Amino acid sequence: MLGSSSPLLIDGELVPGSRRFETVNPATEEVLGEAADAVPEEMDRAIAAARRAFDTSGWATDPGLRAHCLRQLSEALTRHSDELRELTVAEVGAPRFLTYGAQLDAPVADLTWFADLAERYEWEHDLGRASPMGMTSDRRVVREPAGVVGAVTPWNFPHQINLAKLGPALAAGNTVVLKPAPETPWCAAALGVVIAEETDIPPGVVNVVTGADHALGAMLSTDPRVDLVSFTGSTATGRAVMRDAAETVKRVFLELGGKSAFIVLDDADLRAACSHAAFAGITHAGQGCAITTRLLVPRARHDEAVEMTATTMAKLGTGDPRDDRTVCGPVISARQRDRIEGYLDLARAEGGAFATGGGRPEGRAKGFWIEPTLVTGLDNTARAAREEIFGPVLVIMPHDGDDDAVRIANDSPYGLSGAVHGGDPDRARAAARRLRTGTVSVNGGVWYGADVPFGGYKQSGIGREMGVAGFEEYLETKAIAEIARTGEGVG
Ligand code: NAD
Repeated sequence: MLGSSSPLLIDGELVPGSRRFETVNPATEEVLGEAADAVPEEMDRAIAAARRAFDTSGWATDPGLRAHCLRQLSEALTRHSDELRELTVAEVGAPRFLTYGAQLDAPVADLTWFADLAERYEWEHDLGRASPMGMTSDRRVVREPAGVVGAVTPWNFPHQINLAKLGPALAAGNTVVLKPAPETPWCAAALGVVIAEETDIPPGVVNVVTGADHALGAMLSTDPRVDLVSFTGSTATGRAVMRDAAETVKRVFLELGGKSAFIVLDDADLRAACSHAAFAGITHAGQGCAITTRLLVPRARHDEAVEMTATTMAKLGTGDPRDDRTVCGPVISARQRDRIEGYLDLARAEGGAFATGGGRPEGRAKGFWIEPTLVTGLDNTARAAREEIFGPVLVIMPHDGDDDAVRIANDSPYGLSGAVHGGDPDRARAAARRLRTGTVSVNGGVWYGADVPFGGYKQSGIGREMGVAGFEEYLETKAIAEIARTGEGVG
């Protein structure tokens, strides 16, 4: 089984790691097994390997090799997809249906998009001749890989996020040290095993360093041998990454938290919109950064909307993530469950009530579970309406028309995503365009895709992942000017 050995990948070698730690099934609390728990010396070796591979192997200058290796990786992971699916459901607690999309199959297939991009990208651009200061010069702009990338990732969509960093970073010619979340070492280690055993990716180009200690991630932010940190996680940790990276003026790319709004306009099909919002809000127990967790409904129909949304949420309930029909599985850990319960207490203390849910589901003695919960009676100033809860918790609030809905949606420190539902597509589109967020869905449109840039405004991050914009995050820009041979202007 891919998961069970869970080694480190350092400089092309799979090594067990000098220490081991346990990884746990969040649905059952069962210990799945052990993973390598890297010590700082192992992270240091991984960074050295990535540096050496970038500086001395041909990887950085060979887009054809990179495209070949990314296609190989996609094919190899596809061959292992049954095994990876079981592993992901067990370690992440991800509902199985999601593994056919963003939790596994989609990001594996998307690697080929980045392979194609490496081949078709215009690496050089001729700016032509000019005579600045009387010196006639031929100018070119060359795009080059940034160098060594430190990739630090969370646990909620491990394959999607690990591969959305590896795909473009490798296609662009970088070498990578991947430091996944302590909660999901097996998902990342499986990737390392497949890379080492089934691809031609040269030693040191990808290193996978799992471990229980968050400080391993911080080593990537501070180390002068790392050129760029690509981080996905909470806004609080993103700030720490930025602070740490400042010392070496390292580039940082940040995908952070969200508190996205789902706007239902007064001409929308209310029942359809509320069902959609309920489903979207509790998928994967709400553990998605772009999930719409503030539901804004027309004031005149607020009570109806509460009833419709609560009914769907209660009907979906929680379920075993192995079951194809499950939408809301467990949350990742006891710590995360306790944090969500803290927010439920806070919502109550702030004057909120629960139209459904509000605690742990009955009959689930083992595992980490929270009922799908609809909070009513709060306005957008409440902390439960402003802060990221990262659980199956929706806050429903009334709005007084399109302008007011957009105002409430934008009144947030975050700006990751959003949704608008309305009967008149022009009106819905107009509201969507006014949202200060990196992605917006109109009437259920799906923005997720390899060619679609994803990222946040405001405190949801800096930069874009995926798409050409995401690929270009991993590039440097060099301008080369050569004195013209005509002799004209030569001093
Ligand atoms: P987290 O911020 O606690 O940890 C993320 C990663 O950072 C982990 O690998 C962790 O070990 C590492 N880390 C912790 N402290 C560090 C430090 N000081 N320096 C460097 N690395 C450090 O986040 P999490 O709990 O794993 O994930 C949940 C969060 O991730 C949520 O806030 C969610 O919104 C966010 N997220 C954002 C996106 C996005 O694309 N915007 C996607 C998924 C998750």
